[in-house]
Amino acid sequence: MNVLKFGGTSVGSPERIRHVGRLVSDRGKNIVVLSAMSGTTNTLVEISEYLYKNNIPGAQETLNALEAKYDAVVTELLETPRGRALAKNAVDRSFAIIRSFFSDDATFTAEDEKEILAQGELISTNLMHVHLGERGINSVLLPALDYMRTLESGEPDMAFIRSKLRLLLELEPEADLYITQGYICRNSEGRIDNLQRGGSDYTASIIGAVLDLDEIQIWTDIDGMHNNDPRFVDDTRPVSSLHFEEAAELAYFGAKILHPTCVLPAKLHNIPVRLLNTLDPEAKGTVICNTPPDRTIKAVAAKDNITAIKIKSGRMLLAYGFLHKVFETFENHRTSIDMIATSEVGVTVTIDNDARLDAIIDELKHFGTVTVDRDMVILCVVGDLEWHNLGFEAMAVEALKDIPVRMISYGGSNYNISMLVRAEDKVRALRQLSEKLFNNRQ
Ligand code: ADP
Ligand code: ASP
Ligand code: MG
Repeated sequence: MNVLKFGGTSVGSPERIRHVGRLVSDRGKNIVVLSAMSGTTNTLVEISEYLYKNNIPGAQETLNALEAKYDAVVTELLETPRGRALAKNAVDRSFAIIRSFFSDDATFTAEDEKEILAQGELISTNLMHVHLGERGINSVLLPALDYMRTLESGEPDMAFIRSKLRLLLELEPEADLYITQGYICRNSEGRIDNLQRGGSDYTASIIGAVLDLDEIQIWTDIDGMHNNDPRFVDDTRPVSSLHFEEAAELAYFGAKILHPTCVLPAKLHNIPVRLLNTLDPEAKGTVICNTPPDRTIKAVAAKDNITAIKIKSGRMLLAYGFLHKVFETFENHRTSIDMIATSEVGVTVTIDNDARLDAIIDELKHFGTVTVDRDMVILCVVGDLEWHNLGFEAMAVEALKDIPVRMISYGGSNYNISMLVRAEDKVRALRQLSEKLFNNRQ
């Protein structure tokens, strides 16, 4: 059995839902994870923003437009009166839940927002379920809110998820296939929560891991992980295979096709992850597994909104404990560090979350002179970068010879070189890296 996850664009219109319906019906008894139809989660976030501001008419207007969209989807997707009635019922139920938060006298909370955000996946899975029913497929809905649960730490409660899912599957042995919601879950208090934006990939990976399935398939709108970001670089090519560690680096450093959290459960249970194209199902895609090192650079990615913080101190000379104090400051403010560069007189670190930046700077000033560079980007070159492999780091640096590089990190793992540049240089840097590393290879 496999788990097949389809993202928002894959189910973004009645035509696409039908296409995915065909695709999953042809592939046997698998677990199908669906995202919300593309744009829906963003609209639900927008509605929540109005509600936080107590702007009920704003929320109402946005919801009305969304409701009109779903009315049209129901009419176009379903063919029988029964199918339409079932789908309309499900959609209405979700809209009634959203509307129950439209009140002038109650304060809208983060918990309320999570309940609203959950409706996108609940609707898309109901639509697919009813559609498959019309096609004569016995699909069974596995309610994610019944089995997907996180611990107090925010980590998935793997033991609970495993036993609950097994039970749900055992209850429905006659199913042709199973459908479930990506992204949504309950937290340790039993309240509706989610696995963060883009988290449907994580749902699929968790399911694959707890049930020890054969493959975790992430179906999206492109034929696998490309060797550079196709949104900024022309002539990118799909990479046929990646090691788990390579995929983790790429996902973390900006390759949007894969959510960063998705790799770990698959890696720990050694389950291959396959990235496939809904629009071109026969394309080979990318397989992520324990591939042996192959002395090639695989791909480049970029992570935006990075801030570099330099702490310079005369007292760092021969002093121990300096780095400890610096890192402790970031820990105290629950801010994680991406890159580090040190010298005898200072250290520079980067962060991607500057919510606590002012407080961090204030505290760091006890230990040295602090300077900050904002609007930076981490470029990440990923592949078999074991340090004995000659020349790779030289090629990466050479590619950026006419671009100011603020920081370089190499040797932290066998899989990556990171370089920090200004945001305004990002696209040129990505293109030059592609040119040097993939098109011009000697
Ligand atoms: P889904 O809605 O299916 O989860 P996403 O939008 O999250 O899809 O991810 C797919 C998108 O990721 C692609 O359309 C592509 O623009 C973008 N992307 C960014 N970097 C890469 C890359 N290296 N390889 C492939 N796609 C990438
Ligand atoms: N629907 C959610 C989002 O848009 C989850 C996902 O698509 O993975 O973030
Ligand atoms: Mg995604």
